[in-house]
Amino acid sequence: MALDRFGRDIHYLRISLTDHCNLRCVYCMPEDMTFRPNAELMQDDEVLLLVRLFANLGFDKFRLTGGEPTVRLHIVDLVRQMAQVPGVRSLSMTTNGVLLSRLAHPLAQAGLQRVNISLDTLDPEKFRRLTRWGALGDVWQGVQAAQEAGLTPIKINAVVVRGYNESDVVDLARLTLEYNWQVRFIEMMPFAGATELQLRQVVTAEEIQTRIETELGPLQQANNGELDGEARVFHLEGAQGEVGFISSVTVPFCAACTRARLTADGRLRLCLLREGEVDLLTPLRQGASLEELRQTILDGVWYKPWGHGLAEGVIPLNRVMSEIGG
Ligand code: SAM
Ligand code: SF4
Repeated sequence: MALDRFGRDIHYLRISLTDHCNLRCVYCMPEDMTFRPNAELMQDDEVLLLVRLFANLGFDKFRLTGGEPTVRLHIVDLVRQMAQVPGVRSLSMTTNGVLLSRLAHPLAQAGLQRVNISLDTLDPEKFRRLTRWGALGDVWQGVQAAQEAGLTPIKINAVVVRGYNESDVVDLARLTLEYNWQVRFIEMMPFAGATELQLRQVVTAEEIQTRIETELGPLQQANNGELDGEARVFHLEGAQGEVGFISSVTVPFCAACTRARLTADGRLRLCLLREGEVDLLTPLRQGASLEELRQTILDGVWYKPWGHGLAEGVIPLNRVMSEIGG
């Protein structure tokens, strides 16, 4: 078991499989983003070795993210091998959905259990403006393919940006009337790369909730008022699915955080919104023993920060979101 000094049992690892992406969402990275050379990123055998180590330390929940995890070469084989690691009980992915129409079935067959798909609007024009390059139809087909492949329950992630999609939250929430999905609205967080927009155009969960309730009626608390992961969840009357709010900026869930992140270049990051990291890839490449790596992980976890410092103006500027793994 990997405990931090506050007694939290850290057992959930989010792995950024690549910093590369086939979109350029305005809230995530600049349009002229330069990516790391592949040699600097964890190779398949290195990812697998680290997953085995983490599983051995009691981590049982793994999420593959990025960048865009589906653009990684050999992603299906990598998922297959990860799914077979003893101790890996939950294996899911966060994806923009663009490539899911052809990858959903192979990924499901390889052992992927669920997907969270990012979809910030149902308006094709606004979708292109938010993602700079994306076609809404590709993602919609991807969502359908994920449903058919059994990568369920599907969660839809929508980041809300003032001036881009704040009025679209109503149509997104309306999806839950028809589909058994959890549509989660995420407050935009500040990182390097797009900080100006991220600080000025935040839409709070409170405002999003008001917009939805004004149009669609009251949101009733679901899950007995408990968090589902990081989301506070509700449902509309008669709905098949749920509406969730991830309000990391205005209502942080740090006290209940059980997660750690592995960056695409093999650094253990204990808080999404704090710059501190522990390098695992360099010692691994320099021949550190498994016992040494294990101890490095345990020491890193022990010093996991209590929570983020956004309220005090502390913004992590050493990386953009896609390098860390959202
Ligand atoms: N490319 C995949 C995707 O978009 O789902 C996975 C990586 S992406 C960095 C993971 C999640 O982070 C997505 O749901 C995305 O919308 C969210 N995200 C990106 N930048 C963000 C920001 N500045 N604040 C809050 N969420 C953000
Ligand atoms: Fe790519 Fe996901 Fe970032 Fe959008 S949010 S640019 S899809 S990594």
